[in-house]
Amino acid sequence: VRLPASGPNGRSGGYDLVLRSDRVVLPDGTRPAAVAVHNGRIAEVSGRDAVLPARAEEDLGAVALLPGLVDTHVHVNEPGRTEWEGFATATAAAAAGGVTTIVDMPLNSIPSTVDTAALEVKRKAAGGQCFVDVGFWGGAVPGNLADLRGLHEAGVFGFKCFLAPSGVEEFPPLSWPEVEEVLEELHDLGALLVVHAEDGARLGETPASARYADFVASRPPSTEDSAVARLAGLATLADTRVHVLHLSSAGALPHLAAARAGGAPITAETCPHYLTLAAEQVPDGATEYKCCPPIRGRANADLLWQALAVGTIGCVVSDHSPCPAELKAGDFAAAWGGIASLQLGLPLVWTAARARGVPLDEVVRWMADAPARLVGLPGKGRIEAGYAADLVAFAAEEEFTVDPAALRHRHPVTPYAGQRLAGVVQRTWLAGVPVGDEPRGRLLTRGDLP
Ligand SMILES: [Zn+2]
Repeated sequence: VRLPASGPNGRSGGYDLVLRSDRVVLPDGTRPAAVAVHNGRIAEVSGRDAVLPARAEEDLGAVALLPGLVDTHVHVNEPGRTEWEGFATATAAAAAGGVTTIVDMPLNSIPSTVDTAALEVKRKAAGGQCFVDVGFWGGAVPGNLADLRGLHEAGVFGFKCFLAPSGVEEFPPLSWPEVEEVLEELHDLGALLVVHAEDGARLGETPASARYADFVASRPPSTEDSAVARLAGLATLADTRVHVLHLSSAGALPHLAAARAGGAPITAETCPHYLTLAAEQVPDGATEYKCCPPIRGRANADLLWQALAVGTIGCVVSDHSPCPAELKAGDFAAAWGGIASLQLGLPLVWTAARARGVPLDEVVRWMADAPARLVGLPGKGRIEAGYAADLVAFAAEEEFTVDPAALRHRHPVTPYAGQRLAGVVQRTWLAGVPVGDEPRGRLLTRGDLP
């Protein structure tokens, strides 16, 4: 896609805003630069000291300037479970975490986004209360094959399905034959299938136990590894793009790498919790760590980092999935599975990346550019002329301690409480305007240039 740049209108006034920093994260690396913004877009990227007439100008000094992050895996839950999380709180948390675009998952809201009427209900619910831009996934469930085209034409970014129970009864999993049918339909549409890839046939019963080890044992790596291998084969057969959501098991990586090397149209993401937490550290009874697939051992996490480095995994997204504190209580069978990290994803991943010697621009590629490319969001995820002026002032070397009371999502239950992290999001701009008290986020449809 060739993106039009937007220059200052006529000779009067110049650009709307110019931001300068010693550390601007650009597609080809990090360097001192000046970024000129006009009409909500990046108009020009120049040398740090370039003369650029503008109505407003700010020098961030050593504070880094990043493109706004794109988080394609967020469960907002509104309408229907708005008491778990809603558009206002989720998008406020996003902005506070440097995320300027989210794509909302089709389940946990009621209705699930499985037909165009449900999409319309969700868009109405979201309208006027989002602090960042919001797009929507559609859902593929048993029996809605005929609804996929309508959802696609209505602008969803792709379709999500499960291969195991989702946790909510109104969003059942697909059988393997149903996955094949959906892949054929999506081939015709040119649409993307994103999959919760734990094979339900291989899952054990989750024991009513407070021991984390018992929970992990009920969802062994083989449930993911076999599902990913099978999906890779089906993606090739159907010639349909498939994306593996929240990959936890490193055992799936050889399957993914081999399939990709053979040209299979399959990609994968992982999440901050799989990269920065480890099963060994989860105390018994600590259900704030529960998510599916589960957080595995430290050695497994090392392999996920290696996979990011070589590109077998392309994206890091949050899988933000909060619920009220009382539903996160009890044993590992009873507690809701989900970790809410929209606001903390960037400092979490950056802190761990820095310790591993991974540069900031690589983190930004995983969390902004790659997710934007995954869902086909032209004009998002990069600081480049013509792109949206979604920007983040990030004090990368400044540290803070995670205080749940400072989290903006509805129920700030978090396994990260008390952690010392590097990287403070100082400010977030959406379309060139600092995110403030007014919800200025737009509802996105696939292919639109916002
Ligand atoms: Zn999810």
